[in-house]
Amino acid sequence: MARPTEDAADPALRSALVERMRFYRELGLTEFYRRAVDQAAHDQDPLEDAESRAGDAQEPEKSSAPSLSGGSASEAENQPEPIALSVQANFFAEEPAIPARKNFSAPPHVAPAVPLEDRAVALRLIREDIGDCTRCALHKGRHTIVFADGSPTARLMFVGEGPGADEDAQGLPFVGRAGQLLNNMISAIGLKREEVYIANVVKCRPPNNRTPEPVEANTCSPFLFRQIDVVHPEVIVALGATAATYLLGQRQPLAGLRGRVHAFRGAKLIVTYHPAFLLRDPRQKKEAWADLQIAMRELGLKPPTRG
Ligand code: SF4
Repeated sequence: MARPTEDAADPALRSALVERMRFYRELGLTEFYRRAVDQAAHDQDPLEDAESRAGDAQEPEKSSAPSLSGGSASEAENQPEPIALSVQANFFAEEPAIPARKNFSAPPHVAPAVPLEDRAVALRLIREDIGDCTRCALHKGRHTIVFADGSPTARLMFVGEGPGADEDAQGLPFVGRAGQLLNNMISAIGLKREEVYIANVVKCRPPNNRTPEPVEANTCSPFLFRQIDVVHPEVIVALGATAATYLLGQRQPLAGLRGRVHAFRGAKLIVTYHPAFLLRDPRQKKEAWADLQIAMRELGLKPPTRG
């Protein structure tokens, strides 16, 4: 049997609560209500007890927080849309509807590093949290949730916009023609695809490959942020304006974001063109190569020698 006073001294519970609070802060939730303790509810297994109270401690009477466990909660409970709307309703009403997150002048978020050997498991737990997600409308048209691909300990991470048809079919990011070009970009800087980590702002394919709506991107991107915190890359390359917008929390023309190094969650963030755009306008490949050279410089990489 666990008692509240004993729980407060439990390092594992304290750590779980700190992690959960941090995740909700990233979602924009900063105010919580405390319920009276139902003693009967505490007469349970300590681990189950800790998990359930971690949720209770942060849920108001009328809950607005999403469940973090993918399986047991009802789908209605898993809908975070009220969070995005309740926290950012005024923001969306005023357009342009981009996420209210840190701007360039904000101090970069730096999460405590997950030990290298634990990163694969930590990523798997995020995937389990996503579950068979119905948190945003994109679930209606998807075949597969496209979580990520690559090394959990990568020094370099690429972030795109969202899955396309090939990715939706295969369950992996960047596997179509744009993916082939991304593979070539990775080779050009002397790395293999399996040495980097690749993910998207949204994990389900938007209909007709449209740009994700702000509410969709805002709902899904906290999972991406958690992936970034676990992988802890030294450099992140944002592929295209949508990825740059939702990572940096600021809508700006790509030209104003390229060519410099931004700070994001303890990583150096570089913005370049989306490979799909480069397929349509190959003349911009030279510019993209210049961006990749910034990434190489930050990573201390030299281009592979030919021949
Ligand atoms: S895009 Fe993200 S939030 Fe929306 S349904 Fe898919 S996994 Fe869930």
